[in-house]
Amino acid sequence: MTKLDIHMFPCLSDNYGFLVHDSATRATASIDTPEVGPIEAALKQKGWRLTHIMNTHHHFDHAGGNLELKKKWQCTIVGPRADADRIPGIDVQVGDGDVFTLGESKAKVFDVPGHTRGHIAYYFADAKVAFVGDTLFALGCGRLFEGTPQQMWTSLSKLAALPDDTRVYCAHEYTQSNARFALTVEPDNAALVRRAEEIEAARSRGEATVPTTIGLEKATNPFLRPTSRDLMRTIGLEGRDPVTVFAETRKRKDHF
Ligand SMILES: [Zn+2]
Repeated sequence: MTKLDIHMFPCLSDNYGFLVHDSATRATASIDTPEVGPIEAALKQKGWRLTHIMNTHHHFDHAGGNLELKKKWQCTIVGPRADADRIPGIDVQVGDGDVFTLGESKAKVFDVPGHTRGHIAYYFADAKVAFVGDTLFALGCGRLFEGTPQQMWTSLSKLAALPDDTRVYCAHEYTQSNARFALTVEPDNAALVRRAEEIEAARSRGEATVPTTIGLEKATNPFLRPTSRDLMRTIGLEGRDPVTVFAETRKRKDHF
């Protein structure tokens, strides 16, 4: 099995940058390009050469560094087929069910629309890691800028179906405020209460709360728990369908 090294570092005010390095071939991808300076510094620190950019979606804090990095490294830019016209410098278009191979490491692509219409996620099954952009966050999910609750729920359900021990690299450090919101809709979830305490402690020490895991999110993230009776009762939607419960939870978070 090939080895995949992952290096995570802060960018902008609350983004994370990620370098993914296939050690067999030394192919190296930047997952999105939030900020060129920290990405260059990380490459230098690791002694890696940038061969690829793998974009999740078109937002500027995800694709804003594409052209500058491509100019310097002549790297190949991989991104969502459904949003190809909004991904600067795109070379390789991928979509649901495709497998993109970085060196010898295979990444399965999922279409996960909702936050944007062409959002994708990358899942490296052998390494048990997923890069989910702004679709799933630790205790949260992306805002619905270009999609419906039904679309986003379908997208989140695809990610929730990954193995519980999949490490999930989300693109922002939003966890502390997400935890405070989550407690308002599922206050009696003991696993959530415990996790919220751990998050407050970690953030007070300046530690990252990313990556998370699918198993932890399924147990504590209200956006993956629209079938929780406690959650449905708290928001006054007992017995309703998951999309309706998810939509109301997302609406409440928007106004939190
Ligand atoms: Zn975004």
